[in-house]
Amino acid sequence: MINFSPTPEQEKIVEQYRDFAQRWIVPNRLKYDELAEFPWEIVKAAYDEKIMNGPMPKIYGGHEHSLLDGVFASEELGAGCVGIGICIDANTLALTPLYLAASDEQKKKYFGLINELKGVAAYGLTEPQAGSDVQGIKSTAIKKGDKYILNGQKRFITNAEASTFITVFAMTDPEKGSRSLTAFLVPTDSPGVVMKPRLKKMGQRASVQNEIEFHDVEIPEANRIGDEGYGFIIAMKTFDRTRTGVAALSVGNARAAYETAKEWTKNRKQFGKPIAANQAIGFMLADMATKIETARLLTWNAAWAYDHDKKKLNKLSAMSKLYASDIGMEVTTDAVQAMGGDGYTWDFGVEKMMRDAKLCQIYEGTNQIQRLVISKSILKE
Ligand SMILES: Cc1cc2nc3c(=O)[nH]c(=O)nc-3n(C[C@H](O)[C@H](O)[C@H](O)COP(=O)(O)OP(=O)(O)OC[C@H]3O[C@@H](n4cnc5c(N)ncnc54)[C@H](O)[C@@H]3O)c2cc1C
Repeated sequence: MINFSPTPEQEKIVEQYRDFAQRWIVPNRLKYDELAEFPWEIVKAAYDEKIMNGPMPKIYGGHEHSLLDGVFASEELGAGCVGIGICIDANTLALTPLYLAASDEQKKKYFGLINELKGVAAYGLTEPQAGSDVQGIKSTAIKKGDKYILNGQKRFITNAEASTFITVFAMTDPEKGSRSLTAFLVPTDSPGVVMKPRLKKMGQRASVQNEIEFHDVEIPEANRIGDEGYGFIIAMKTFDRTRTGVAALSVGNARAAYETAKEWTKNRKQFGKPIAANQAIGFMLADMATKIETARLLTWNAAWAYDHDKKKLNKLSAMSKLYASDIGMEVTTDAVQAMGGDGYTWDFGVEKMMRDAKLCQIYEGTNQIQRLVISKSILKE
């Protein structure tokens, strides 16, 4: 049986996140886009209203969302603002290695800490020489007694300067290379952690990124997540889950641009009739609506497959991220075009949605890398 209806609980999640986005995100999105500041007031409110840390188990203070619950939530955040939405969802990216591989003790301590502080965490994988090629990571964490000594550099790390701790991936044995990649919990205030200035960027400007240097940072053995050498698997399994979130943010962003363009083109008259009454524009709206619907179904399917059979997720999550972020770019670009000069100004927000859409094609693995993941998977079948 195929059933595309959200359950009553999932409808409540949609309502809850949509309402939060309407009250907190939409009124503030242009302000944070212009300021390029981390939206602390919104993140604190998100904690107060049980929006943060959706997938975290209830025993640790979370809401135990399934992946499908999560994509319903992320679509609403994306429809509010992808930049602010990713401040919330990047926390999930940083915590997913813990969901997957941390001990109960680590979960209790670090989930407790993040909830108490109403704080955020960051996910530290990318390095100057290791972007798409994760196996090129150079950071090392060399064991010395009951500690590891971390040295290296991370780049483009979302939430970094705002974070309480960073999930860092480093090699424990440079001779073994990426086979020794291991995940660690690194409190941001540890001596030797150097936060570089905030990155200046095109879109999703409410979300902050920094380069981070690690100079002889001492990490207690108790902060290792999973076994030595499991870092690569943890990083990839994390993306298998979180890429559906990027897909859902993209669907939400595309939906917001489409709805804005639809209303505007119905009301704007030229040559004695609404702009939308021209087939060239009506068909553009039809294509937008069809692409959004298709991307949403693919994203739901990927998340549903994970919730039911974790093995299937790798290909489907890559497909959902690839397709939803590509159509996100197309739909937002068409929304700007359909709205003419008004689309290009700051007044209606669609130019921001177009700038925000671009990044979804790049982070959590570029769309070229998604195609690589999909092609490897289908050629194995
Ligand atoms: C705003 C922002 C936020 C980010 N947040 C985080 C974060 O929180 N944590 C984190 O760890 N990382 C983060 N990243 C890093 C992001 O995941 C990488 O930028 C991305 O994976 C691409 O790596 P790169 O920029 O080094 O590009 P490169 O790997 O240098 O790629 C450059 C181009 O070459 C293409 N390419 C590379 N290899 C291949 C190939 N084999 N076949 C075909 N094409 C290829 C790419 O698709 C791309 O178009 C963030 C990046 C940005 C810009």
